[in-house]
Formats: sequence, structure tokens, C-alpha cells
Amino acid sequence: MSSRNDITQKIEPVAFKKIETPAPVSSYYGVNTFSESAMREMISKETFKAFKKWQEGGAVISAAHADEIADAMKAWALTRGATAYSHWFHPLTGLTAEKHDSFINIVPDTQGVIEKFTGSKLILGEPDASSFPSGGIRATFEARGYTAWDPSSPAFITEVALGKTLCIPSIFISYTGVALDKKLPLLRSEAAVNKSAVELLKLFGSGVKQVYSTCGPEQEFFLIDEAWCKKRADLMLTGRTLVGAPSPKGQQLDDQYFGSIKERVLNYMYDVCNEAFKLGIPVSTRHNETAPHQYEFAPIFERSNLAADHNLLLMDVMKKAALRHNMMCLLHEKPFAGVNGSGKHVNWSLSDDLGNNLLNPGDTPEENLIFLTILVCVVHAIMRHGDLLRAAAAGAGNEHRLGANEAPPAIMSVFLGEQLTKIVNMIESGKIEKAKKQDFVDLGVKLLPKFIRDTTDRNRTSPFAFTGTKFEFRALGSSMNVSTTVTIINTIVADSMDIIRKRIKSELKNSKNFGSTVLKVLSAFIKESKPVLFEGNNYCDDWVSEAKKRGLPNTASTAEALRAFTVPKTIEVFERHKVLSKVELTARYNIWLDLYEKTVDIEVRTLSEMVNTQILPSAYSYQSDIAAGLELLRDLSDDMTIKMAEGALEDRQEVFENLTADIFYIRKNLKELDALLGKANALDQQEKASFFYSDIRPQMAHIRRHVDALEYTMPDELWPLPKYRELLFIS
Ligand code: ADP
Ligand code: MG
Repeated sequence: MSSRNDITQKIEPVAFKKIETPAPVSSYYGVNTFSESAMREMISKETFKAFKKWQEGGAVISAAHADEIADAMKAWALTRGATAYSHWFHPLTGLTAEKHDSFINIVPDTQGVIEKFTGSKLILGEPDASSFPSGGIRATFEARGYTAWDPSSPAFITEVALGKTLCIPSIFISYTGVALDKKLPLLRSEAAVNKSAVELLKLFGSGVKQVYSTCGPEQEFFLIDEAWCKKRADLMLTGRTLVGAPSPKGQQLDDQYFGSIKERVLNYMYDVCNEAFKLGIPVSTRHNETAPHQYEFAPIFERSNLAADHNLLLMDVMKKAALRHNMMCLLHEKPFAGVNGSGKHVNWSLSDDLGNNLLNPGDTPEENLIFLTILVCVVHAIMRHGDLLRAAAAGAGNEHRLGANEAPPAIMSVFLGEQLTKIVNMIESGKIEKAKKQDFVDLGVKLLPKFIRDTTDRNRTSPFAFTGTKFEFRALGSSMNVSTTVTIINTIVADSMDIIRKRIKSELKNSKNFGSTVLKVLSAFIKESKPVLFEGNNYCDDWVSEAKKRGLPNTASTAEALRAFTVPKTIEVFERHKVLSKVELTARYNIWLDLYEKTVDIEVRTLSEMVNTQILPSAYSYQSDIAAGLELLRDLSDDMTIKMAEGALEDRQEVFENLTADIFYIRKNLKELDALLGKANALDQQEKASFFYSDIRPQMAHIRRHVDALEYTMPDELWPLPKYRELLFIS
């Protein structure tokens, strides 16, 4: 059997037994989480009160209270069949980390065991995780970090066929208190935005006690048959195809987006949703995306710390569930060239303790004044720190998306929509009271009248768009953790809130009219932030030159984008709000730069191996066939009794020449790639990462062009890899 037959016969859908009447979701939603109500039922009132206090930022619970909660948690977990527990956290590399410990303790007298779990084990874990990169924070001799329970996110149970584990959401921190994860900075940024927002709102006479950010991440992904993925070293090792000629049919017909979901995929989606619901993850939307075999899940938004945990858990569930359906869930940003890649839209807003969305235009002029102030704070923050948002989306995978005409460009700008733009322009010019009746619903009230929420306006090309009641950051990649993005937005918005509050306060010394003072200050801030506002088509070439004129950075490479974490204004804003110190920022920069280099390095090695061991051997074999045929034809052409079309011999010769040229250039470029890699290894970290972008990646693309040309011309049965038209169109 040829390898091609083997490839096309590999597809293996799973048959499922039909469930006649699935149980209502409400009957099992959250059964795998140790929810607050479950906890409350199992512990004393006093302990619950202490826990809530801690959760809201008060003192850590006492050892006795911790013991009581640990006991309850253990009892809850044991009744559900858990045999082990693990602190679960967001490391700086990879998605999540866990280290399981069993509940068992040996009873000295009997040598039997009992299940035990103490408060100290609940609160503190010592995973001896010294192999995690620390970016220079810890020397190896003091490399141990510890995990600490994050009480703001409920413990949960993960299950596989043969067992269950209790997972305790945690932060990961060094003994000197340095954040070694992505969650602790997020929690610190929540405290920062809470403080700044509450103070700002106080100025407006609001008695709001707490403000927190909300997040709804829309998760895009590809589902590909597992057997085929396994036949491609590139998909298995790098998550993307390093070679592959485009399928004649791609996404030209727009027949995938929102199309009818295939049965195989829908079975998978039900499976994922069931598990997600049991974990209390409110997955709500699911649909086909633009590229063939591309899909999306979106949850109902939650508090950001919970949304971040839930998105990571969902990604984990998605990957594991896919294998049960003989498919692989690809979370890479660009698994296939020539069709859309996958992003993760981060919807972000702020809510107060009563659940009011601060980015919801209100019913009264006073509420609208708060809404507009917060809105201007966000715009002002992006104007000052857009480079940080770009850095949040920086990574080897996303580098293939940003700037391409399918994802927002690497220039960070803000879209507000037609109506808000009009209002913002009026405030800027100070002519608010001359607004026309149709711009506002009720002009009778002083200052800012009620206005209708603009829900019609859509600009899919903007990286940071106001979409009715929230901002939507569209540049993040599908494989990324939302925590860093939210941490950045929270921190820079908190900073702008402080600046605006101080300005309003100082202006109020000279004016008695609060409303017009606020509008005057907002006008100045809008003027300052004007360059970042852009309503046009972000994919257009004109925008690149226009943005340059406006002084907005356009950072295409990961290495350059990550540098934003090290500049003085970044360090200042993060230290001012106690979110990240200079040491912590530098560590992140080092770790993420290193990750980029390692990722590209693995891609180079994988490409070399595939070319040398699969593609070239097949090509040589075909080359021999063609050479033999050519020789035969040449001999036959001497035979005067055979009439050959004029040019027939030359034509066959051309096939041989083209094939030989592609083989030659693949080899030549591969040798050059090897030399470039050698050159890269002699550079310092930042130079090396830049070199990977400027020289190594184009060289890989060069090799790919010749490989893809071979794929188009070589006999189907000789091609050693599953093709795009198979990966993307057969299921
Ligand atoms: P779209 O048209 O952009 O898909 P949706 O209304 O479907 O918009 O929302 C997309 C995501 O935004 C969902 O996950 C939703 O829960 C989330 N979202 C809605 N409101 C907010 C908010 N106030 N804060 C954060 N996320 C929100
Ligand atoms: Mg959206």
C-alpha cells in the first residue's frame, strides 16, 4: 500500500450512542466546583465570614479557619471520588501547571492509610518547581517557588475515565514575594483599578465600594483529524504546518462562517460544553469560523480573575476532549498558511459592586458623565501605553497573524463608532450644548443628555473597539492567556483614572460647576488622545502611513514588541500601581523572548528533518523516474518511425529541469538556514530574536515555496504528508 493510501484511509470518526433526553444544564452546572454555596453549607458561619473577608482583600484566614475549610473541601472532593489534590496555576510559560499529591497518609500503628488534607496544605504548596524559567529572578540555589491558594476562584475537580483530582487555583510566587506567574499580577491589577476607580467615582458623588474588571474571551480554534495530524511532525511538534501547498478551495466561498455545524464537530462541542458546565464555565456561543474546520466558543463574561481561569480550563478541556473524538484541537494562531488564523477577542469592561457596568451609557446625564469619563480614561490609557497592548499579543504564533489582512494590524488604535465619535468630538470642541436634537434623545437636561446606545456600528478591523457596552481587544492570539492583557488594561486605565481625577480636582478649585469642569478636563484629554482614535479600515495601506504621521508605533516583530516591558514609562506605571516591579517586568521580557527563540528554533529543526527525511527522499525518487523517462524518450526520438510532437522532448526535459531546480534550491536554502542558525547563536538574546524574525523566518518561507511547488507537481501517491485539501476538507 502506498503511503498516500495509508494517509487517506486513516480518518476515524467515533460513533456515539445517542442520548435521547439530555439533562437540563441547570441540573449539573458547577457540580465539579467547590462553590461558595457548597462551602457555606459545610463550614461554620464564623469561618465563612473570615473567608469572605480574606477574599475581599482582608487578612489571610487563620490556621484554624484554613483547617476547617480544608476539611470541608476534602470531604466534598472525596464524596465525588477525588483521590488527589493539586495546586493549579498559570506559569509564565505554557498554559497551566499542576503537581498532584495524594490525600493518603500512613497510619503508624496499622500501616494502613487515611485521607488527610490540612489548612496549611490548602493554603500553601511547595512544588519545588525549580525547573520553571525565572527570567533571572531566582538563582538556582534558591530556585524554589511556592504556590498559594487564590481564594477568589473556586477549587474544582478534573476527571478522566479512571480518576479525579481536586485542583486548587493558586498563584506562584518566590520566597521573596516576586510573582512567577500570570495570575498574581492580574490580582494586583484588580486591586489597582478598584482603588483608582472607586476614588474617581467618589468625586462624582458615587458611593460605589468596589470596582472590578470583567472579561469575556472569544476562543477560536481548528479541529483536525488526529490520525492526519500524527502524520505531520510539524503539527505535532510546532502546532502549525511548516509546509503545505494551498488547497484549490480555501475560504473563498465564505461557506464555512456560521454554516451548519458538522455532526462530528457538534458531538465534540456537546462533549466540551458538558464538561465546561460541570466546571462552572458558562460557555454560551459556539459557531463555525471563517476558515475550513475553524470554530469558536465564547462564554458569558465573568469577573476577570475567574474568566482567566475558566478560559485556561476550557482550552485544556477542548484539547483533551478532541482526542476522545479522534481529532486534535489546534490552538495555534496560524496552523495553516493562506486561510485565516485563530485569535482570542478579549472583551473587557468594569463593573461596580452592584453589578452595574461602568461602560454602559446610563439613563441620566450624571450617569452618562461617568460613562464618558471612564471611556476617555480608556482611550487616554491606550494612547499612552498602546505599545504594552501590542506586547501582550506578542508571540511566535501570533506574529503570523498581526498585520495580515485577517487580524488587526500591529498598530494599536481605538474605534469608538459613529455616534460616540460625534459626542467625543463635541466634548473636545467644547460645543456640547449646541448638539443637535437627533444626536441626543433628551436635550432638555443640562450638560450631557441621555443618548441611545450605538449597537449598529461595527468595525472588525480595529484592534481595540468599543462595542456597545465593553471594549474588545482583537489582537490577542488563540493560544494566549488573557491574564496579561487584562493586567495591562487594568493598570494603564487605573493610571489614567488617577491623572484625570487629579486634574478634575485641581480644576474644581477655580470652578463651581462640576459638570462643565469635567467636560473641560475631558476635552483636554480627548485632544491629547486624538491620534489613537481611528474609525477607518485598519487593513488599508494608507493607515500604515497615516499612523506613522500620528506617531503611533507599528511593531511587527515579537522581539521589538516585547521591549515595551522594559521601557521606563512601563516600569513607572506598573510600579506606581504595585502591579509589577522592574525585576518582574525584566523577567517577563527575558522569559518571553527566550520562548520566542526556542519556538522558532524548534520550527527550524522540524522543517529540516521533514525536508531531509520525507520530502527530499520522495522528490529524489520522482526525479529518478523522470530522468529514466527522459532518457528513454531521448532514445526513442532517434527512432525515425515514431512521430513525436515537436517540443515533446524539450517539454519532458522542462519537467526534469524544474523538479531538479526545486530540489536544488531546497537543499541550498536549507544549508543557508543552517548557517544562519549558527550565526544567530552567536548573538545576544535581543539581537538573536530580531534576527530570527528578519532572517530565519524568511529563509524558512523560502524553503517552503520550493517544497510547495514540488507538492503541486509530484505524483499524489508519492507525497509523504497529508495535504491541505485533505486536512481542511475531509472530516
Ligand atoms: P460579539 O458580537 O463581539 O461576538 P457578544 O455580545 O457576542 O459580541 O460578546 C462577545 C463576548 O463579550 C461574550 O463573551 C460576552 O459575554 C462578552 N461581554 C459582553 N459584555 C461584557 C462586559 N460588560 N464585560 C466583558 N465582556 C463582556
Ligand atoms: Mg466579538
